[in-house]
Amino acid sequence: MTDVMERAGLLDASDPLAHFRNRFVVPDGVIYLDGNSLGALPVGVAERLRDIVQDEWGRGLIRSWNDANWYPAPIRIGDRIGGLIGAAPGQVAVCDSTSINLFKVLCAALRAAPDRNVLIVERDNFPTNTYIAHSVADLLNVAVVSVESGDVADLNAAVEDAGERLAVVSLTEVNYKTGWRYSMPSVTDRVHSVGGRMVWDLCHSAGAFPVDLDGCGVDYAVGCTYKYLNGGPGAPAFVYVAARHLDGFDQPLHGWHGHAAPFSFDAAFEPAPGIDRALAGTAAQLSLLALEAALDAFDGVDMNALRAKSLALTDLFMEVIDAQRASDIEIVTPRSEHDRGSQVALRHPNGYAIVQALIARNVIGDFRAPDVLRFGFAPLYLSHTEVVRAALELVDVVTTRAWDRPEFTTRRTVT
Ligand SMILES: *Cc1c(COP(=O)(O)O)cnc(C)c1O
Repeated sequence: MTDVMERAGLLDASDPLAHFRNRFVVPDGVIYLDGNSLGALPVGVAERLRDIVQDEWGRGLIRSWNDANWYPAPIRIGDRIGGLIGAAPGQVAVCDSTSINLFKVLCAALRAAPDRNVLIVERDNFPTNTYIAHSVADLLNVAVVSVESGDVADLNAAVEDAGERLAVVSLTEVNYKTGWRYSMPSVTDRVHSVGGRMVWDLCHSAGAFPVDLDGCGVDYAVGCTYKYLNGGPGAPAFVYVAARHLDGFDQPLHGWHGHAAPFSFDAAFEPAPGIDRALAGTAAQLSLLALEAALDAFDGVDMNALRAKSLALTDLFMEVIDAQRASDIEIVTPRSEHDRGSQVALRHPNGYAIVQALIARNVIGDFRAPDVLRFGFAPLYLSHTEVVRAALELVDVVTTRAWDRPEFTTRRTVT
């Protein structure tokens, strides 16, 4: 293993992204492999939040909606996220949660195709996506067809079978558990070939690797900002509506911020002409502005270099685990670069306790029931050496059974 550690050291020495680590506050000694769940705190956010609270709220009071440009923030920040996901300005808004934005786009997409009545989803998606899809389908009287996550043949067969009845396909690009990744261009094309519309969830994509929504002709997308975009706990989500669909975008949560003239206080709803119509009510302004400050961490980042580093990090991690083939550890994430995002998922019957034992050693990952250990790799604040050290700790915890202690095996609320 000295060999792989040496290689990691060399990779760190020539890493073009190494200096971005200075843009984050990561506690000393912690190897943080959970940026796919809650991104690390970027430098400057705490100071910016203090100013927002003390000056803009404290002194500016209500005037700050104008004077501090609070009101346009959802669209202004949406455009910034658009730059990271291949969306030209005017198509992304930041608001509400991923769950709520998914509800909006699914309703709007289904309403846009009233003569079609099939919604295709995936069986092993993040549960909220499944719950929302079924609740929308119930409301609008549409049939849900569930395909196996990560099984493109199953998906294609379902698309073929639905044919002209296909209204919408809603998938998450990178599976939250396995790290398996769909091919956005080819799936989107396939869905369009029978006249369906495509909704992508980018929770595990945005900020993790380059995404090209406009280039792929995607219809709608949603995603979190508190994962790889480091917006902070509960930061508002984003929603993308392709420019060609904006005029007809009829999302059901008509609220005053989605009105064409919110401050005319009209009794009748008239949707705003652009992406503003995706908004419902007043933003969680402090979280929204914290996200804006957090996005500075991505200024000047070459997303292709980010992807290259992400692949190098995940390759190293898997290489160490493979080489020391710890008993019962199975790597679930596909090896092929095209088929994975920026996380590595492992399976072990004592996964929960192993993750707890690792956290006690300052290597932070997480666990998803029933047996998946998840490690997310945020290339802006992780080094190759750290990743090798984390993998060696993991192998040690498994081979020495260091996890087999009551303090590690007892489950807490958040896993
Ligand atoms: C993290 C995640 C969510 C979270 O949704 P919230 O509404 O923010 O709680 C939803 N879907 C996927 C695929 C996720 O990974």
